[in-house]
Amino acid sequence: MTMQAAHRDADFLREIAGPELVERLKFLDASIPTGAAGFLSLPVPPAAPVRGDHCDFDVVIAGGGLSLLLAPVLAARGLRVAVFDRGHIGAVHREWNCSAEELAPLWETGLLPRETVDALVLNRYRHGFCRWHGGGTYPVTGALDHAVDASALLEAVRSRAEATGVRLYDRHPVIGDAAGPDAVRVAFQTPEGASSAVTARIFVDARGSASPRARADLTCPTVGGVFTGLAEGADDPQRIDPTVGEILVTTEGIVEGRQHIWEAFPGRRGETTLYLFAYEPMASRRPGDLTRLYARFFERLPDYKRGDARMVRPTFGHIPGWSRQVPGPVSEHPRIVLFGDAAARHSPLTFCGFGKMLRSFGPVADALVHAVWKGVGPGDPTPEEPIHSLTGALALVMARPPTAPESVDSLNTLLDAAFRRLHGLGDAAYRDLIRDRLDVRRFVKFAWSTSRERPEVYDAVFRVLGPMGAARWGLGAATRALFSPTAAAADAG
Ligand SMILES: Cc1cc2nc3c(=O)[nH]c(=O)nc-3n(C[C@H](O)[C@H](O)[C@H](O)COP(=O)(O)OP(=O)(O)OC[C@H]3O[C@@H](n4cnc5c(N)ncnc54)[C@H](O)[C@@H]3O)c2cc1C
Repeated sequence: MTMQAAHRDADFLREIAGPELVERLKFLDASIPTGAAGFLSLPVPPAAPVRGDHCDFDVVIAGGGLSLLLAPVLAARGLRVAVFDRGHIGAVHREWNCSAEELAPLWETGLLPRETVDALVLNRYRHGFCRWHGGGTYPVTGALDHAVDASALLEAVRSRAEATGVRLYDRHPVIGDAAGPDAVRVAFQTPEGASSAVTARIFVDARGSASPRARADLTCPTVGGVFTGLAEGADDPQRIDPTVGEILVTTEGIVEGRQHIWEAFPGRRGETTLYLFAYEPMASRRPGDLTRLYARFFERLPDYKRGDARMVRPTFGHIPGWSRQVPGPVSEHPRIVLFGDAAARHSPLTFCGFGKMLRSFGPVADALVHAVWKGVGPGDPTPEEPIHSLTGALALVMARPPTAPESVDSLNTLLDAAFRRLHGLGDAAYRDLIRDRLDVRRFVKFAWSTSRERPEVYDAVFRVLGPMGAARWGLGAATRALFSPTAAAADAG
């Protein structure tokens, strides 16, 4: 993108959404992770603790975003816990949707009372749907059908953290860490700019995409926000039906090297969260990316929805993703645990980091408690789903679309065929793919039937993975489908 075009986008946005938004975008656009060091890191790491050193805490968590979920659960089970954040702990500038089952761990773990969780749900949909430009509309029930009040959730978790004795360090950025045999030293900066350090049995790096360990190979730049004034009505693609969630919708082909995708989920009465996003290789991140995407959001919004759209709150950011076709983010020491976006263990196809964290914070908390009791490092406690190594290749296909003019509609055509098949497999399979719960066998069946209709899917996988990668992927799919426990159970049944 030329400097001139970047300035034009920034001026356009400044006029529509104000200077503050443009400044925040500029900061994010300039913060391209190198995979080698955080934005704030010490030139010399702190000295690693030696055996027997005093520990201030059992668990120190760097990053008080959604990962704050862990802290009160650990403290309620008797651990000494501290959370450090460069900003305010429990502040969130996002809107979230998820499926009903994903909310259950919030009360099942004892984190929040069930009534509190119920009150966090802003809206429930009759169904959701996906629609690809020029194709059909494919409805699904029970997937991403709950709009959640993200701010109220994190405020409630913060209150619970305070009540259970978690030490909260707002505006204390973590600037380095060093692991010893039985503890980790964590260096941080105070709001006054002084450096200091604490020692913990386990260090949880939950700094999201800003973590120096966040080495995922994909990203999902996402822009949008909460809007009022959209025209409402049923059975009209250009109107919002407040009882329906729009999960994935395209209104055009591949432009500017990206397949842009819309999402719309109605929240409070009269309000709808709208997002425009794309899949991208992390290595292609360029200064000005989010600003460009936001400008496109406003340019193309009238094609997607009618009405007098007014932005109540902007939300935007990069969601990291890991294709599983290359080594992913890992911790270099068993006492340093990656959690949340820093670990990128969520689905590379749906990028539903919120849902994944709701499903995993309970098991991860269990692993941390056991590790502290046993005096060991927990290693990588986030449960991994085998299907991700298969869906990751498809995410790469989405992230590197063909750019030849004659291929402009190729992804829409392919995705329309895929979703028609998926819909044909029944609501349960469709719902499970969106919820990241589809077992390998059903996934292979779905991929196989799609490829019979659209054999060009092989070309696409071949193009992005190369001959060796494509062969490994195909072999992996076949073996997993044959030998997965679900396959055995299905065969027995
Ligand atoms: C616009 C947008 C919309 C989304 N919508 C959905 C959705 O609808 N459904 C869904 O499933 N997922 C959604 N996601 C994904 C989901 O929000 C993330 O997966 C989730 O927030 C990750 O939580 P986290 O705690 O790992 O990271 P974050 O929530 O990003 O928190 C990271 C924290 O680390 C802090 N930090 C950074 N550097 C330092 C430092 N040096 N020291 C101390 N603290 C530091 C930051 O201040 C921040 O508080 C969305 C993401 C975006 C960007």
